[in-house]
Amino acid sequence: KEALLKVNNLKKHFSMGKGQTLKAVDDVSFHIKQGETFGIVGESGCGKSTAGRTIIGLYNRTEGDVLYDGKNVHTMTEKERFAFHRKMQMIFQDPYASLNPRSTVQEIISEPMEVHGLYPNKKERLERVYQLLEDVGLNRDHANRYPHEFSGGQRQRIGIARALALDPEFIIADEPISALDVSVQAQVVNLLKGLQKKKGLTYLFIAHDLSMVKHISDRIGVMYLGNLVELTTSENLYKNPLHPYTQALLSAIPIPDPDVEDHRERIILEGELPSPMNPPSGCVFRTRCPYAMEACASMKPEWQEIEKDHFVACHLYNEKVTGDHNRPQVAA
Ligand code: SF4
Ligand code: MG
Repeated sequence: KEALLKVNNLKKHFSMGKGQTLKAVDDVSFHIKQGETFGIVGESGCGKSTAGRTIIGLYNRTEGDVLYDGKNVHTMTEKERFAFHRKMQMIFQDPYASLNPRSTVQEIISEPMEVHGLYPNKKERLERVYQLLEDVGLNRDHANRYPHEFSGGQRQRIGIARALALDPEFIIADEPISALDVSVQAQVVNLLKGLQKKKGLTYLFIAHDLSMVKHISDRIGVMYLGNLVELTTSENLYKNPLHPYTQALLSAIPIPDPDVEDHRERIILEGELPSPMNPPSGCVFRTRCPYAMEACASMKPEWQEIEKDHFVACHLYNEKVTGDHNRPQVAA
């Protein structure tokens, strides 16, 4: 089946003055199928939020293409863009910042419907608001309250209800659970999963670590300093991470079962994330990579499909760079 969203060699650079360029997104390609959840994981500052905002058209792109249902998001007419925003919606890390504190929940959820001329009948619109509140685990008694009267988890539910108001097909969730207590995170993840099933939604789920994203994603892309460095199914990423950065991210997650002994080697990343204004030459990860070789400074690693549906950008897996005999074994 054709992918619903195609992101091809996307770049988003910001000009910072004095000839300086911030390469927030520097080469990102992936496709998302209808009904799928695709996760993007990376440290803060890796460009994942910028990628999300560029995909939905909040930012213009510097290079590359974003195609939604075959249509180029960045060359749409205003009319097409308006229609596109009914199909693709975004939810944010901090629902409090994105909810108008002076509006009631009912007003907040109604607003997109008003803008798009949906449910012009007031009574029907209110019914629709009640339905959406129920869909996200709240109820009609909440409709006339203000955002500050709710907990963080409830506020995120309000943000989700608003994103659902236009009955979208695709939702970009930018760290929707990062600001929430751990106990609440799973509830919101389960809500999103349930809504996906019920409404046939497709998700791009952005996260800064792998602990939750594996429960919701079908496939995951790992991002570092504006580049995708690995992409595969969630299962494969956990069983057989290939990129040294992915291995480090995974080794930082505790094994949840206390009866299982944790024999894994902890990989502690030295140093800081370099500035995207002045990224390292060659492989962007080389300043923190325990396996960095000479070639890593001079050549950018190719994006290669190592096994079916498993892509990685690292010279360790390129025979042309390492020579055949050095190639690490890929577990079956
Ligand atoms: Fe490490 Fe080199 Fe692979 Fe980059 S290309 S991740 S520096 S081994
Ligand atoms: Mg962010």
